[in-house]
Amino acid sequence: MTAATPPTGGTRARPEPRADLALMAGYHSPQLDVRTRLNTNEAPGPPPSAFVDRLADVVAEVAWHRYPDRSYRALRTAIADQHGVAPDQVFAANGSNEVLQTVCLTYGGPGRTAAVFEPTYALHSHIARITGTGVAVGERAGDFSLDLTEVRRVLDEVSPAITFLCSPNNPTGMVEPEAVVRAVADEAPGLVVVDEAYGQFAPWSALELVDGDRPLVVTRTFSKTWSMAAARLGYLVGPAWLVAELDKVVLPYHLDAVKQAAGTVALEFVDDMRARVAHIVEERGRVTAALADLPVDVWPSGANFVLFRPRERAGDQVWKDLVDRSVLVRNCASWPRLDGCLRVTIGTQEDDDTFLSALREVLT
Ligand code: PMP
Repeated sequence: MTAATPPTGGTRARPEPRADLALMAGYHSPQLDVRTRLNTNEAPGPPPSAFVDRLADVVAEVAWHRYPDRSYRALRTAIADQHGVAPDQVFAANGSNEVLQTVCLTYGGPGRTAAVFEPTYALHSHIARITGTGVAVGERAGDFSLDLTEVRRVLDEVSPAITFLCSPNNPTGMVEPEAVVRAVADEAPGLVVVDEAYGQFAPWSALELVDGDRPLVVTRTFSKTWSMAAARLGYLVGPAWLVAELDKVVLPYHLDAVKQAAGTVALEFVDDMRARVAHIVEERGRVTAALADLPVDVWPSGANFVLFRPRERAGDQVWKDLVDRSVLVRNCASWPRLDGCLRVTIGTQEDDDTFLSALREVLT
């Protein structure tokens, strides 16, 4: 048989993507070449060098010709020990975004709906839509807090298969009060996902609500507190029966051997992580106080970033003026409900000073 002649350009119609994706914009987080990058909520510094040395030793032992441990037992056990749960209550994937995607593939999909309360992390609704899940949007109150009356309205109206909460919420920084999360967990008809990508920076965690029965999961990431955004590793803690369902859906061997090793070794350095978190929380206090002296509205944050809105100048213009001074923050100015807002990640003391003096210059 002779090989088919390759089609000549332009003669064949291009295959159409799924019709329900047609109006969807991709996720954009513009990166620019600047000296001070405070736009993606990463940790300001790398993990300790002892971590890198230990990991190099472990990676030297990897059997490269073999598939990795499909159920990543060592990593699962190390994460479970951290949280005082059983290993079968832990599900890990390539970043907490992939954890969320696996949840949507398993519990969402065509004919089902996920509820989100805006403004919140854009990927909750994006991932839901990509997986064919309908999205019901509830509104937060004017101060960005979660209003239980509005939550009940959405729950009653669409009976969501998945209800997303985010605490601390991105991009507002607000920590959901325990009573609110408990009420949603009690009243939501389906699965409740509490996204705690920034959980370690906050004074309380919904992890204490996880038990063997309740359909509630808490997602976490190695990207922020563990200074390991490059590794792409996240996980959830939930009931074992739910984790077993996710295991059926995720691709086989989705966690490579190096990533499994990186996560397991990182957890040996928990004291370093706690020290970094304490430092960032202190720095957050300093940045928040400094912002309060400028003509901006500031929202109190329980995360490693702070949302603020210049009062006298357009947020968009302030963002550009900061870029001109080689400082990049996240521009939320044109996002729905966040008119004129900017979000700054807490960096090193030096980064934060650079940001604050550039902002002072731009605003005054
Ligand atoms: N959840 C929230 C609230 C986030 O802000 C982020 C990162 N921007 C993630 C999840 C995803 O984190 P990752 O995929 O790096 O674990």
